Amino acid sequence: MNKERILGYEIHRKKVKNINLRIKPNLEVYISVPMNLHRDYIENFIRSKEEWIKSVLKKVENVKEKQKDFEYKTGEIHKFLGKEYNLIVKTGNFNAVSLKNNIRPNEIILTVNENIFENIDEKKKIMEKWYFENAKKLFLQFMEKWLEILDENVEKVAIKPMKTRWGSCNYVKRYINLNIELIKRTPFEIEYVILHELTHLKYPNHGRGFYNYIERYMPNYKVAEKMLNAKHYY
Ligand SMILES: [Zn+2]
Repeated sequence: MNKERILGYEIHRKKVKNINLRIKPNLEVYISVPMNLHRDYIENFIRSKEEWIKSVLKKVENVKEKQKDFEYKTGEIHKFLGKEYNLIVKTGNFNAVSLKNNIRPNEIILTVNENIFENIDEKKKIMEKWYFENAKKLFLQFMEKWLEILDENVEKVAIKPMKTRWGSCNYVKRYINLNIELIKRTPFEIEYVILHELTHLKYPNHGRGFYNYIERYMPNYKVAEKMLNAKHYY
């Protein structure tokens, strides 16, 4: 595995003649360089391209942001644990979110006080709080399960919005971050990200040992990677 990091980017040394830089559909920056090319040269090359990389990533982020804008109105499709739900917005004496799984299509019922029925920000807050509470419960449950299987321990688990990643691991401090957006994915995908991050406690990099270890516990992990990889990495 000829992998190293320069200026935060992963460098792949290969039998190529030129430096090759591209941004993959999952927004990962891929840089391959000739086997013996000097580090300083690569560093200068990256610096000369950094503005361009940032502008491309920003453009993609902006498009993604726009696609995500909900108005929290009846009829919208919202996701939860890999399933699609029709959103139904009702007024009531309280603010609450509930699920109806026994009908087709499934429904997410958002009940709000009349005075915020048209208030997108307030409705968004209520929905996000509900997602967060569910994520907290479920992710920690899966975390417990995998910590026991792997006989590991962590110091801190944080669930939060993350722009370009599904999760991350600080293996020195034993901190794990999980993207709150995972709550919209299937339990299989969520468990994979948790296993992935916990594996970083033993293997900081994505080498062969890393994937051998994951495969031992989740032989079909590549399916999960495919399902997840469209947008983020970890
Ligand atoms: Zn990783």
